[in-house]
Formats: sequence, structure tokens, C-alpha cells
Amino acid sequence: MPLLPHGAHAPGSVPHALDGHLMLQVKRVDPAPFDDVSPVDGGLVFCGLKAAENKAAVLRDRPFTGPVLIDPSAYEKHVATPDRPFDAGEASLMAADGLEEQLERQRMQGATMAVTPTALLSAGDLASLEAVAERALEISDDDVLLSLPVDARWLRAPHHHDLISMLRQVPLPKALVLCATHDPLSTAEAAANLREVVSSVPGIGLLRSDLAALDAMVHGAGFASIGDSASARHGPTPDRRGPGPRRRDPAVLLPRALSYHYGETIATAFDGAEAPLCPCGACLEWGAANGSADGRRPLTTFTDAVDTHGAHRHNHAVWSALWEWIMRAADEADAKERWQKYCRRALTEIAGLNEAAGRPGRTFGPSAALRVWAGGEPRRGRL
Ligand SMILES: [Zn+2]
Repeated sequence: MPLLPHGAHAPGSVPHALDGHLMLQVKRVDPAPFDDVSPVDGGLVFCGLKAAENKAAVLRDRPFTGPVLIDPSAYEKHVATPDRPFDAGEASLMAADGLEEQLERQRMQGATMAVTPTALLSAGDLASLEAVAERALEISDDDVLLSLPVDARWLRAPHHHDLISMLRQVPLPKALVLCATHDPLSTAEAAANLREVVSSVPGIGLLRSDLAALDAMVHGAGFASIGDSASARHGPTPDRRGPGPRRRDPAVLLPRALSYHYGETIATAFDGAEAPLCPCGACLEWGAANGSADGRRPLTTFTDAVDTHGAHRHNHAVWSALWEWIMRAADEADAKERWQKYCRRALTEIAGLNEAAGRPGRTFGPSAALRVWAGGEPRRGRL
């Protein structure tokens, strides 16, 4: 089936059930703060090869009325080829591939929308991307979400323009998953180009992400999700090195710095200095249970595996509160301004945190993405 003419505008298609939702993405279910997720403007995305069974186990005795997605995460195991852009089982007498069956399975499992089992799209592999788009055009159900797990190197120029031009031709609701060995937005170019992609493809979602979800949402994304743990904050790539030894200390979101750091790193940095305190709901509960001085939890106390659930509740509370504040903006321009202002302040706060820790210019460095979100121009030659 031919695609729409080159450059034609596909209608912006944000599925009603996901419109404006910032969801929690979960791979390992144990530490996830399921009970804190809002059904009104949040939601749950289960990913990984056990996504379906995790979804069933978690929600069996926990009624949740918000959107729930099961990302079959085929991209964790399979790289797309033009002949096999999805990993959906074998062809049958009834169908050329097992895609419809896979989607139907997710409906039976109670997913709000059925997510395609798209394989990983290698950087610049236009032929496979086109095969995904062509197959997607054959899907007429309005409850299907086209998953686009792209190697983050698609965000390098000029690949991101190819991505934009192809995605604009697919009217199906769709969502990006950025796949990388480490941080997919480790360069200013990637952060700036992701923003260009979401603002050029109206209504697209960004799943399995981190705080980049907020930047995407204020720049045109229809919905997004933020990972509960590091492995749910981006997709893997085949060239990843094996997982290192699992750390005991969880990653903790420093609200003022807009960045995640291991609990032990924070504790070490503030050893002998005044620790930053958190007044989020989860940390106040900890403060009450542990009799902390003014009820707040010092962010230096997430140093062991037993603190992981508390850290994940804290992380979720921090980005949820930030998103709620952005959403109280009068209009889209105001929302953008609030986000940019917060990012700009984070740059100053980071310097302040390092000083408070007695380590000026050390420990808490701003990421390349944060500089872009704060409105900094990408430095020539440093992209
Ligand atoms: Zn907190």
C-alpha cells in the first residue's frame, strides 16, 4: 500500500484515552509506586519481556481506572529488517504475519490500547522504517498504538528529518521509544532534535523516557511515560554491554537539579554538610515514621536496597508535582515558559547544591539535555 505523498500532513492523532497523560513506565514491578499513580492524568505502561504477566499480577487485586499499556518490547530482542519489521510470530493461513493476533492478545489482557511489537529500528535504516509504516497503514482498528523503538542515533542530523518525514505520513497513533546503551539524550543535538521531532509530528507519544517526557509534552507530544527505574527510562540496544553488578542504592531524583543520582552519591556528596530535605508526600510519610526533625526526609537517606521503594515513590511524586504545576499554566506558551524557567533555575540550583556539599563545580553536573531545555544554544562543534 503506498504511503501518503511525501510531505503530506497526517492528521494529528492523539488517542483520546491517552491524551495529556504522563504515565509511569515499569519494567521491574517490586519497587514501583503503583498506588500513587493518578488514573485521571497518569497511567501505567508495562514493558520488558514479562510485561503482560506483570500487568496481570499487579492489577489483579488493584483496580485501576486509568490507561494501561502492555509494551511487548520486541525491540529488546529483535532488530527490524525490511522483511520482518515486527516480531509478531509466524505467518498463518489467516494472516501474512502474526501482528493482528498479538494485538488481539493485548486486548484480551485488558490493555487500553494495543501496542505493536515493533522491532528495533537501527539508525538510518529507512527501508525497515518504511516497512513499519506501510504495514501500519493496513491497520484500521482505532485502538492500536504504533510503537517506534528507534536507535537514539536517529536523532542525529540528517536522520531525524527522515524520521519526521516518514512519521508524518502515518495517521495511526504512535509513540517513540528511544533506545541507547546509556542516556539517549547525552548530547545537545539529540535533545534539540527530539524536540523538533515531537513538535513536527503532532500528537506523537514518547514512552519509556525520563524527564525528557516533560520537554516533549510541552512541545507537542500527546502523551508520555517516565520510567520507574533506569532500565525503564530508555530501551536497550543490541550492542549494550552486559549489566554491571546491581547496585544496592536506588537512583534518586534531585528535585532542584532535575537529575537522577545514586543514593550513595548524594549521601557522600553531603557527608558533613547540610543535607537537602524533601517535602513530597512519600518523604513526609518517611519523616513521620522516622521522627525526622521537621518531618521532611533528607535526600541522603536512600543508600540501601530497602530504600528503593521509597526512592521510586519520591521520584514519582517529584515529577508528578512538577507536571501538575506546569499544567496549571494558562496556555501552551505559558506551559513552555514554566518548564523552561524551571530548567533554567535547575542550572543555578546545581551550582548551589555543589557549593552546599562543599564541592563547587563537582558531583552534580548539568546534563547536555538540561542545557537545551533551559534554552541554551547547542555549542557549535560540541553536538
Ligand atoms: Zn521526596
